[in-house]
Amino acid sequence: MPQIRSEEELQAHQLQRLRWTVQHAYQGSPVYREKLDAAGVGPKDIRSLDDLQRLPFTTADDLKEGYPFPLLAVPFEKVVRIHASSGTTGKRKVLSYTQKDIQDWTHFFARCYEMAGLTPEDRVQIAVGYGVWTAGISFQMGCEAFGAMAIPVGPGNLDMQCQFLVDFQSTVMCCTASMGLLMAEEIHHRGIQDRINLKRMIFGSERASDAMRTRIQELLRLEHMFDIPGMTELYGPGTGLDCEHHTGIHYWADYYILEILDPETLNPVPEGEIGEMVVTTLQKEGVPLIRYRTRDLTRLIPGRCPCGSILPRHDRLLGRSDDMIIFRAVNIYPGQIDHALSGIDGIGSEYQVMLDRRPDGRDYMTLKVELKEGVALSEGPNLSQKIAGEIKKQIMVSTDVELVAYGSLPRSERKSKRVFDHREA
Ligand code: ZN
Repeated sequence: MPQIRSEEELQAHQLQRLRWTVQHAYQGSPVYREKLDAAGVGPKDIRSLDDLQRLPFTTADDLKEGYPFPLLAVPFEKVVRIHASSGTTGKRKVLSYTQKDIQDWTHFFARCYEMAGLTPEDRVQIAVGYGVWTAGISFQMGCEAFGAMAIPVGPGNLDMQCQFLVDFQSTVMCCTASMGLLMAEEIHHRGIQDRINLKRMIFGSERASDAMRTRIQELLRLEHMFDIPGMTELYGPGTGLDCEHHTGIHYWADYYILEILDPETLNPVPEGEIGEMVVTTLQKEGVPLIRYRTRDLTRLIPGRCPCGSILPRHDRLLGRSDDMIIFRAVNIYPGQIDHALSGIDGIGSEYQVMLDRRPDGRDYMTLKVELKEGVALSEGPNLSQKIAGEIKKQIMVSTDVELVAYGSLPRSERKSKRVFDHREA
């Protein structure tokens, strides 16, 4: 692919590839052909990037219904690999890859390492899972294509990880944020900090909370930590990366178009506002995606990054659109509440959002927040005011705050239920 130097070139490239994707999906997949015919739009109708909005949406249900090889748009002999999502409910999503899909994935994954400031001198300890659910192999193929040295260890096994950090002098580690924290504590515990050469960490599959980052940084004094996004539907990990300025995730707009839509109306939200990520692939052969609703929430970051890259940026993922609350005509996501609370000292990690409709006919929000261990309830009034102020400032809604003692809200090993909506009739 030729080097893309300007926004105009990028748009021209996107339009040309969008036409190709619609044509390819229409020809290769009976499911897409039916959807496109039903929407009354065909490959010839794509004349500008605005025509993207005429295309029908694709959803997770489309992928499940076509199990085991959904939305396949090439003959079977072209498929060289599959990956699947582990999936908590229903059938798994299985995605098929052609040789070119794997090459493309490898190519843009190599770009992640470049974005993270690596050089061929770097030694990359890959401590993420390998297998059908996960794509550790993409971390490795990207690393090799980039030209750095891959050390494919897989997750866990802290003994071996520590030994390799010392013996091989690994400079970069790829792992989940939880594993990163475990490693940092283990290195600290063993007192081997001065014998290792670790400079950067790249976190996949779960986003690193600010608290985790701070702790890892305290223990390891890294130069940089990066978040690498990725979902199986869209190749897998490596679809973008924050650069050394950490102003958001540069995403590979030459491989897919990202729309941010209001999950209720499905119209685009103004630039900079939160909405659902909807992706359309531009190169994918095996299973192209046309306006695939990811249910993940984020926002586009306006303007140009200080690094000078023309690649646009999106924010970290802020939760799932299924968890959205509509309160007094404002869309609110639990991730935003998380974020507002994370900056306040004296409170714990647990909270609940209660919504109710009072006799005056208006909706009210009460935020139940746990105090941090060791913080007295007498701190209450001060903290309540702080929390309400922060919520008002960041989310622009008014809330009552009820502080409760540490340990009094229920814990769950799975995702805790945080929103209790008592407004229905
Ligand atoms: Zn940048």
